[in-house]
Amino acid sequence: MCSRCPITCDLCDVELSNAQELEEHLDSRTHWDTLEHIQRSSSYDDMAIAFLQAREHPAQIHITSC
Ligand SMILES: [Zn+2]
Repeated sequence: MCSRCPITCDLCDVELSNAQELEEHLDSRTHWDTLEHIQRSSSYDDMAIAFLQAREHPAQIHITSC
């Protein structure tokens, strides 16, 4: 049992102290770079990737038309 369970992002190996920090981390460039790197290296199997992607917010892409 862990008396004090920080939220961790296993992909990036970082600890977040609360849910809000986790959300901010999941939206951050750092996390997406890590995710991309993992997908390229294919060290995780497809199911793990699908699971991770399903948990996350889809990237919000802002297209500026000019
Ligand atoms: Zn992360």
